[in-house]
Amino acid sequence: MEDRVLIFDTTLRDGEQSAGTAMTVEEKLEIARQLDRLGVDVIEAGFAVSSNGDFEAVRRIAREVRRPIIASLAHANLKAIDRAAEALKDAAHPRIHVFLSSSDTHLQHQLRKNREEVVEMAQKAVAHARKHVDDVEFSPMDSSRTDKEFLAHMVKAAVEAGATTINIPDTVGYAIPAQFAELITFLRERVPQLGDTVRLSVHCHDDLGMAVANSLAAVKAGARQVEGCINGVGERAGNTALEEVIMALRTRKDYFGADTAINTGELYRTSKLVSQITGFAVQPNKAVIGRNAFRHASGIHQDGLLKDRSTYEILDPLSVGVPRSELVLSKLSGRHGLKSRLNELGFTPTEEEMTKIYDQFKELADKKREVTDRDLMSLMNGQRVSFSDTYTIEHVQVTCGDHEVATATVKLKDQQGKTQTDAATGAGPVDAVYKAINRIVQVPNKLTEFSVNAVTEGIDAVGEVSIRIEQGGVSYIGRGADTDIIVASARAYMNALNRLLAMGDPTKAPEAALTP
Ligand code: MN
Repeated sequence: MEDRVLIFDTTLRDGEQSAGTAMTVEEKLEIARQLDRLGVDVIEAGFAVSSNGDFEAVRRIAREVRRPIIASLAHANLKAIDRAAEALKDAAHPRIHVFLSSSDTHLQHQLRKNREEVVEMAQKAVAHARKHVDDVEFSPMDSSRTDKEFLAHMVKAAVEAGATTINIPDTVGYAIPAQFAELITFLRERVPQLGDTVRLSVHCHDDLGMAVANSLAAVKAGARQVEGCINGVGERAGNTALEEVIMALRTRKDYFGADTAINTGELYRTSKLVSQITGFAVQPNKAVIGRNAFRHASGIHQDGLLKDRSTYEILDPLSVGVPRSELVLSKLSGRHGLKSRLNELGFTPTEEEMTKIYDQFKELADKKREVTDRDLMSLMNGQRVSFSDTYTIEHVQVTCGDHEVATATVKLKDQQGKTQTDAATGAGPVDAVYKAINRIVQVPNKLTEFSVNAVTEGIDAVGEVSIRIEQGGVSYIGRGADTDIIVASARAYMNALNRLLAMGDPTKAPEAALTP
């Protein structure tokens, strides 16, 4: 049997659906470029028919990311398939991913069709997609709750109609590893093309915390594509965490007899980027990629560990790209030193960008004695420009304390260069800053999340503030970083408001909520 497992990333499609998080096309493109560096085989760039934003994201990614297969999801109807094909028109390697419900629950309540009608729909849809592209994936949605015989029948029909990949989704996260593996074995027996001329894939959800375990059990049973998201983001409890599947296969190749072609040294950076852009922090104890996963190694530089790392660790931090956390640069470091360190971290700023970054670096190095790799990554993430800012912050000043009414003064500049200053009081300094900004910007919104994280250890650490605001059922993430957390908070709020102002209406068609 083939020993290569394809990695199908759906961070930009299934992952984006979670909690209504809206990403700009530029942000999706940035994630897609990083997924390319990571070496994923397939990028599901969106669900073209569901919104103009999704369509545009699929089209841009298809044009600009040329190595991996670029997929668009599509309902099993001609309109959705044509829309996916249109968005993929310029792709080097296009794939249309057609899905249709297969379980009786879904058939009765959603589609209101009988089994034979649904099989016919699947066949027609796959055949239609094949007229556009040679690479067609078919997913019988809710497979794990579908009658096995009927599932095999439907899969067979899709294969006969020309599907080149069959994906078995555990849409609601219901599967149990041993049982899911049995289902994969059963399907391979019934449809011998699976694992031979047709690739067999799985797509699991983590509602019972078993998405990774189910995916790995399926690989052991012969599946050769795993779908999931970076950091396990996604609807409800999320999708399969790809970094865990990748490292489990790499570390236990002896058991699985299969591996991926992933450049694992890019995992940490990919995880950071997805966390930054989606605003979903990675838990410290998260397997493979959490900040504590290798902590004992950086804390105890004792000879026991250095002499025989394998006593304590089965994964080398370098193998997943965890940056060294020691002191790297200080205010005495020159522009050249900064640039070469940034290159080592995988960033390639232009000369023009370097001028701006170097100024910011010197400012940071003045406030903070030691500038670490993690600080540099935070600084670089702050360079991300994915939409044009309606307002920029010129000035923030607060007074606060246990005998003071928290008061803030802010000065904002609009795109025409006009400045406005206003002040407000609040329950605390951050509240006062936000109220003062609101008095100028005047966009109704609800603050739903606010978190501060220290980028590194130490009293002079850079604080990264991540916030989420909501308007009309869509949430917008905002981020800001500074050694002063009030300034970081103001920047984060301004960032979220600018995003809201720049994005217009990113809502998706309501039927887009029901996907595999
Ligand atoms: Mn899904």
